[in-house]
Amino acid sequence: MESSNQKVSPDINQKVRLLQDKLKKASYAYYVLDNPLLEDAIYDRLYRELQDLENEYPSLITSDSPTQRVGDKLSNKFNSVKHNIPLYSLENAFNFDELKQWENRWQGKLDNIPEFNYICELKIDGSAIALTYENGILVRGLTRGDGIAGEDITNNLRTIHSIPLSLSLDNPPTRLEVRGEAFLPLKEFERINREREQNEENLFANPRNATAGTLRQLDPNIVSQRKLQFFPYSVYLLPEKETIKTQEESLIFLHECGFLTNPNYQVGDDLNSLKMYLDYWEEARHHLAYMTDGVVVKINQFSLQSPLGFTQKFPRWAIAVKYPAEEVTTTVEQIIVKVGRTGAVTPMAIMKPVSLGGTIVQRATLHNSDRVRELDIRLGDTVTIHKAGEIIPEVIEVIKDLRPENTQPYSMPTDCPECGSVLVRPENEAVTRCVNSSCQAILRGSLTHWAERSAMDIRGLGEKVVICLMDYKLIKSIADIYHLQASDVADLDRMGDKSAQKLLKAIEDSKKQTFDRVLYGLGIRYVGSTNAKILAKNFETIDNLIKAQQADLEAVYGIGVEIASSVVEWFKVRDNIRLIEQLKAVNLNFAREKSESVGTNLQNKTFVLTGTLPTLKRSEVKKAIESLGGKVSSSVSSKTDYLVAGENAGSKLEKAQNLNWKIIDETQLLDLVNNKGD
Ligand code: NAD
Repeated sequence: MESSNQKVSPDINQKVRLLQDKLKKASYAYYVLDNPLLEDAIYDRLYRELQDLENEYPSLITSDSPTQRVGDKLSNKFNSVKHNIPLYSLENAFNFDELKQWENRWQGKLDNIPEFNYICELKIDGSAIALTYENGILVRGLTRGDGIAGEDITNNLRTIHSIPLSLSLDNPPTRLEVRGEAFLPLKEFERINREREQNEENLFANPRNATAGTLRQLDPNIVSQRKLQFFPYSVYLLPEKETIKTQEESLIFLHECGFLTNPNYQVGDDLNSLKMYLDYWEEARHHLAYMTDGVVVKINQFSLQSPLGFTQKFPRWAIAVKYPAEEVTTTVEQIIVKVGRTGAVTPMAIMKPVSLGGTIVQRATLHNSDRVRELDIRLGDTVTIHKAGEIIPEVIEVIKDLRPENTQPYSMPTDCPECGSVLVRPENEAVTRCVNSSCQAILRGSLTHWAERSAMDIRGLGEKVVICLMDYKLIKSIADIYHLQASDVADLDRMGDKSAQKLLKAIEDSKKQTFDRVLYGLGIRYVGSTNAKILAKNFETIDNLIKAQQADLEAVYGIGVEIASSVVEWFKVRDNIRLIEQLKAVNLNFAREKSESVGTNLQNKTFVLTGTLPTLKRSEVKKAIESLGGKVSSSVSSKTDYLVAGENAGSKLEKAQNLNWKIIDETQLLDLVNNKGD
């Protein structure tokens, strides 16, 4: 380490500033926007480089350097609340030697080391959460934020079934803080990304970003539809009488409190005894239903944790051992762009096939033109690829030293490769689009989307058949599907009579699909299958929806400004209204059936609100109740079904108590809303 008065060369100074700057930008995109700019492996490498330089030249450390802070600034979407106890990150070790160095470091800090052991836990790749329980009731849930303060996302956390709303303890302590990781099971992550892909929205880079993005949704309804889970890993503010003295005992206690705890931990006397655990999970983690990116090694005894304490960023008594991400190199044979059904243009690298994570990979997404420019990817380049979130093949790096001579930078086309019209990149959007509504690529995408399983489920009408039908000019719009003749279809390449009959039957059967599926099939931007269900439930018929104004749509719980304006704009287009008329003529479902419209817990129930609710605004509560068919009245009467009482509830509460009405609090109301039974 250099002494404080030793000169630092301008080159080093500049390098440190550049690294700090790059990592700051990446941190902001990662923690605040949930939309990373860099691959984790690259971030970690640059972070290490910066850390080494700052260790060598401490005068270059600034208080806002990414090495000095946990997370990033807080977004302003939620109230920020100070943590009872700061929430730290974890130091990383990337191999066993680094783990041994950590052991030497912590042991060097103590004069005598009593008997101790280690506990190893899986490092769950999600978002850190701090939960506060008062008298056994969940009162607050915060994100980690910048470690000092977090965002109040209590309502969203209440939708996670593995977080108990009340602790199953006979005598719960006045206050208890539980920390753990909220995460998305891999199946759910894949489902969400599949839906986003169909809606041509940006894909989440990995389950961790998808978790952070979901937890910071403003609408708890959307959160509850994504099946988040939670594993606790520590407990604080325990009353004196509790005899919990180790991390292992905390996990057992948390299980008794009603939490779902991760059973895959192991206690060991020394690092060598933990090596087997580390080696075992390096392979076995691929078979888990959730994503882990390493193992957390902790000193088990609290009596030893306390004197070691914390650095500015990490506890000294724990470390994360991270597994290397699986990466391979291959060469780029082609760079193409794909035009999707909303006209979004996605660049893709076609590469020499290579085996990665159990599958043969030949194409990788390059996301958008900014990413292409940043990578400076060219034909013939050798690239490193990995699977983002272990699922989506992605180019992480172009190995410039291996670049063949005389290559040309790749530039994105300015015209649509399918129809030739000029591509447009709307301001503030990363996506470039073809805006020609008669572009064949858009039509092909719309037809395939219509037939897709979660829309009209027309088996046999996949992309290849759609292309064939379009080539033979048999279909030019969705409505044409319903006028196909068996003889037309049987003549198509490799089709034959039997398959043609089957396809026509599937088309005929699709007329029975419910209104929400028809709505989803239309491919209105942002109207995925979930939003289609919400719209169908609240507007009942297509005619009501066509008439709906922006404000009517925004008044629906679960429908935000963007979705509302996209729906309004879609129905303004004359061709779209014509399509609806044509589809009505062939008897598609444009109304919600009576049997579909019953069955929410709140249907026709009357609620009265009184007092201040801990987290929800009155307007939000009213919107939620009305969207699910309930009514909100201002006074208690014989028609009142529920009185929702918050703090300082006055005479209404008294009246309701006297009249024996059902009185519920915010948590019980959210339970009703989220278990609405559809
Ligand atoms: P981290 O992910 O390395 O680890 C700390 C977190 O692990 C804790 O906050 C906790 O939530 C979690 N954890 C999971 N299981 C746990 C268990 N059993 N016990 C204790 N904790 C457990 O650190 P971080 O500060 O959250 O994030 C830093 C990492 O984020 C970097 O290493 C990098 O990979 C990534 N990152 C990437 C970018 C990018 O641009 N791609 C930017 C910033 C950060």
